[in-house]
Amino acid sequence: MPNYHIWTIGCQMNNAESEQLGSLFEHIGYRATDTAEDADVIVLNSCVVRQSAENRVVNKIRALHPFAREHPDVTLAVTGCLVNSDTAKLKKDFPHVDYFFKPGDYPPWLEKPAAVSTLPQNPSPTAYVPIIQGCNNFCTYCIVPYRRGREVSRPVAEIICEVKGLVGRGAKEVTLLGQNVDSYGHDLPDKPDLADLLQELNAIDGLARIRFLTNHPKDMSVKLIDTIARLDKVCEQINLPVQSGSDDILKLMRRGYIAAQYRQLVKRIRDTVPGVALSTDVIVGFPSETESQFQETVNLLSELRFDTVHVAAYSPRAGTAASRELEDDIPLAVKKQRLNIIEQLQGKIAAEINEKLLGNTVEILVESRVKGKWQGRTRTGKLAFFRDSRDYLGQLASIRIDKTSPWSLQGTVSTKK
Ligand code: SF4
Repeated sequence: MPNYHIWTIGCQMNNAESEQLGSLFEHIGYRATDTAEDADVIVLNSCVVRQSAENRVVNKIRALHPFAREHPDVTLAVTGCLVNSDTAKLKKDFPHVDYFFKPGDYPPWLEKPAAVSTLPQNPSPTAYVPIIQGCNNFCTYCIVPYRRGREVSRPVAEIICEVKGLVGRGAKEVTLLGQNVDSYGHDLPDKPDLADLLQELNAIDGLARIRFLTNHPKDMSVKLIDTIARLDKVCEQINLPVQSGSDDILKLMRRGYIAAQYRQLVKRIRDTVPGVALSTDVIVGFPSETESQFQETVNLLSELRFDTVHVAAYSPRAGTAASRELEDDIPLAVKKQRLNIIEQLQGKIAAEINEKLLGNTVEILVESRVKGKWQGRTRTGKLAFFRDSRDYLGQLASIRIDKTSPWSLQGTVSTKK
């Protein structure tokens, strides 16, 4: 039996695509191996969102050069965001790679049989389902539109079929993925939108929860917010990247909204979806960001009090408008200091938000057992742990919260559903 090995870095989209690729290999008779050196087919699923990620990918490809030279019968392929339209250049740079194929495509040396499913045989209780590829936005710091291309939505029927298949094999929760899920469907014949898709998925028997990410504040519709509030399986958790609290910086980022519009959107969501947990992404040290512009971001975060903030220090990404047109003029020490300020602030806010859950009973979907503790997430996406000798994998359990931290909850089983 031939072996395959898939190496993946990057976002959930890459993980979902690697999982599908792995299922395809399994269906046609391949077996997974832990190391590339034991494989007949090696696939590297790459991420290039940050320069450091691209460096890791390039190092990995280079490290496999001697192995590929000594084993010409082994197939080495690269997919993911490193693979842009200029594959001729990639082939020139890495002649030992046999194939480059675009993210979401099938390996070009395999003809995918029509009847073969790429669904995993035993999916995790929580599965990822890509619904839209690419992005049409061109935020000035982001490489994604250049690498993943323009938006392409998957048809509603295809997504429903995949989710039903996953649920039939044991999945209880799906997270719909896209660089901008709020753009979903505009390129499809009947122009369904994300709200329409959620409505269809909500009707699937056996599916307990639906999540989706990532949203773009300029594209999130009132219809979608109302739909989240209305549908029982759609979780009260929304990721809404703000990136900066300064209108000047938002303009330089070409985000398409100002801070006041973002604040209004958050208010509308909180007024419509009771108990919603909000997370956001922030970039500090963007070119020309002054102390007072940074303070505007701090003020926005202090005022809106997110459940989670993902903060990153700006680093120029070759190929983007920001790297071409804006000088990376904020010293690294200042970027680190700003990053630290936000991490400290958010740690305090998250601790206070989670502390309020002490003594409450929450429903968690159990995903795994780690070091003797069952681990899962609440509907609001909070990580929760509990100990119990019974088997809870893939089950919904109600736990009473006994202990909290900024990052997780610990509890005791109250009932098992
Ligand atoms: S919305 Fe902006 S940050 Fe997000 S993928 Fe598109 S270009 Fe990148």
